[in-house]
Amino acid sequence: MRYIDMHTHTTMSDGLLTPSELIDYAVEKKLSGIAITDHDTVDGIEEAMIYSGQIDNFIVLAGIELSTELLGEEVHILGYGIDYKDKELLKLLEEIQSHRKKRIKEIVVKLQSLGLAITHEQVIECAGPGTIGRPHLAKTLLANNYVETIEEAFNKYLAKGAPAYVPRYKLHPKEAIRLIKNVRGLSVLAHPGLIKSQKIIRKVLEMNIDGIEVHHPDHTWEERCRFEDIARENRLFITAGSDFHGPKVGAGRHGDLASEKISEDYIKSLLGKCEGVVDHRG
Ligand code: AMP
Ligand code: ZN
Ligand code: FE
Ligand code: FE
Repeated sequence: MRYIDMHTHTTMSDGLLTPSELIDYAVEKKLSGIAITDHDTVDGIEEAMIYSGQIDNFIVLAGIELSTELLGEEVHILGYGIDYKDKELLKLLEEIQSHRKKRIKEIVVKLQSLGLAITHEQVIECAGPGTIGRPHLAKTLLANNYVETIEEAFNKYLAKGAPAYVPRYKLHPKEAIRLIKNVRGLSVLAHPGLIKSQKIIRKVLEMNIDGIEVHHPDHTWEERCRFEDIARENRLFITAGSDFHGPKVGAGRHGDLASEKISEDYIKSLLGKCEGVVDHRG
């Protein structure tokens, strides 16, 4: 059987491996393909498409993970088979990125006023070319010995309700789903098990979404069964992804590559015909 891991991150957001390194690791893990789903960016896809072209029969699906908010809770929407070169999409993503940069600056100022001697430059260096976010602030705090763990950085400073918290640019899940459809992609509710309110899950499923990520490393078996039932009731397709951020990274929060995967045939039937290097709609 050939399998695809449908949820992976690269250095273009907060993953540890470059798109090419990620593909090498996927081959090592005997996957037949991956979907690249970086946070709020498609910048890793082109490199992955080109690199995978040298590997026989390896599939790269163009994807994204959009951060949205509904009723005060974080909701992540995955998009698959998107036209990642679409001008409107790129324009909106650029806007989101520039909001993110501004927000990071604001958080640094708050941290400084709390007496922590970290600089904006340090955080930017930590983020590298990728989507900048709170994980990079947490790493900078860790590197400067202000906290002992990433978790502590969030709890003490960065989480909602903590003293250096600044809200993010808020995309509504409906907008994210529409955006994905506009670029001919399929939309999927990411890791519903991480959403506390069942009401929010129900609301998102009413927004004309296509699928639900039933299998995710943070889901219990009981949750998987429940989400599978929900998928059936709402005629949604099912996906599986490890939410891979790097080998040995974020133990307990995310999985190793290929720890969650779905049959290539199933995904092919959803996305249409895809052969070899897949920009199946390109
Ligand atoms: P941002 O997009 O900048 O708001 O950062 C959100 C990211 O921070 C999430 O995708 C997680 O990877 C990470 N994150 C959020 N809360 C925590 C936490 N309590 N501990 C560790 N990482 C977290
Ligand atoms: Zn992430
Ligand atoms: Fe997520
Ligand atoms: Fe993710």
